[in-house]
Amino acid sequence: MSHLAESKLKLAVFKFASCDGCQLSLLDCEDELLTVAGLVEIAYFLEASSTIVKGPYDITLVEGSITTPHDQQRIQEIRRQSKILITIGACATSGGIQALRNWGDHQEFLKAVYARPDYISSLASSTAIADHVKVEYELRGCPINRHQLLDVIRSLLAGSKPRLPAYGVCVECKLRGTVCIAVARGVPCLGPLTQAGCGAICPAYDRGCYTCFGPAYQANARSLIQHYRSQGITGDSLIPLLRNYNAHAPEFRDISSRLDGKFPLPMTGT
Ligand code: SF4
Ligand code: SF4
Repeated sequence: MSHLAESKLKLAVFKFASCDGCQLSLLDCEDELLTVAGLVEIAYFLEASSTIVKGPYDITLVEGSITTPHDQQRIQEIRRQSKILITIGACATSGGIQALRNWGDHQEFLKAVYARPDYISSLASSTAIADHVKVEYELRGCPINRHQLLDVIRSLLAGSKPRLPAYGVCVECKLRGTVCIAVARGVPCLGPLTQAGCGAICPAYDRGCYTCFGPAYQANARSLIQHYRSQGITGDSLIPLLRNYNAHAPEFRDISSRLDGKFPLPMTGT
């Protein structure tokens, strides 16, 4: 990757179905963003500038999930134009909160929301970018942790491989000295399944983690859910914890579907 550090890198930021919050995290970098902007050429970032420089791009950040047939085509073209493609946020890495529709009736939702649903062209499911194209790195969170984003960009600028946390929220609880609420108080917390990045905010305020930073490396959801079930915690309490921003991440999707006996639609069905 050292060839990337030899000249000013071209950075592009693209958006699919999302709330823009992860792109705003990049803009929220303030002083650090000025440093980054001095080191890279921001070639395409409509949230920040109307200037459009054609690809190919050295680093492409992609926010949002694939929800329309047009999205399916556009992500292929973006992939062709990108040397390194990084997905940012829960929408891009797992389908986001909009993937909750994957368990429902897409046509019924369209009828409920739009006066003329026949004009709408959308897929029955919301899926992660990596379900469609190869992705080099994934930054989790809703929204992402901007320090993680800056670390990744700095590493690429330095020609080194970015290091993202592979450990869970539990490690962050230990680092901040939070007593484990699952062990001490019997609160169903999904921190053991969830990738670090938030600083273990919720357990510090006596609330169980509900997985907004996505699945941790080698998360053993089945075992943890069995443990909570053996403690008398019902599926009705556990499903809402699993089905949030990253509901369609396989680690959470499959176990939550087992709990309610309802399996989601095929990943790219129309
Ligand atoms: S992951 Fe969350 S903050 Fe980021 S774009 Fe999606 S909904 Fe917005
Ligand atoms: S839900 Fe979990 S990952 Fe999200 S902020 Fe709370 S502790 Fe962190």
